[in-house]
Amino acid sequence: MSDCIFCKIANKEIEARIIWESDNVVAFLDLSPQAPHHVLIVPKKHVKSLAECDEEDKDILGEIQLAAAKIAELLKLEDFRLVTNNGRGAGQSVWHLHYHLLGGRRFNWPPG
Ligand code: 5GP
Ligand code: ZN
Repeated sequence: MSDCIFCKIANKEIEARIIWESDNVVAFLDLSPQAPHHVLIVPKKHVKSLAECDEEDKDILGEIQLAAAKIAELLKLEDFRLVTNNGRGAGQSVWHLHYHLLGGRRFNWPPG
């Protein structure tokens, strides 16, 4: 998608602090961190949200979760939160599937 900011980051058309990458997934620091560690993990393939995923995306969804665990280990995070906001009412503001990996502070439950 030519006007999608996360596609542009995945294609290296715009800059981001990329901290981990594989053939299908890229992880970079959030521009507006909500915790001492705040990483966004996205598929290189454009898909709008989790709700838009289907059977053919199941490998990539698995890869993202395993990438999150690997990145948490790299960052030496024992406790972390992995979350995707699906839809405007849940806080989604960028329409390319992404998971927030947050760590380095305590998190409340339920989230606000
Ligand atoms: P959402 O609100 O959709 O769940 O999360 C979008 C996230 O993307 C936000 O945390 C926001 O700070 C981050 N973000 C938006 N634009 C950019 C950008 O250009 N670069 C980076 N690194 N993060 C961005
Ligand atoms: Zn995209």
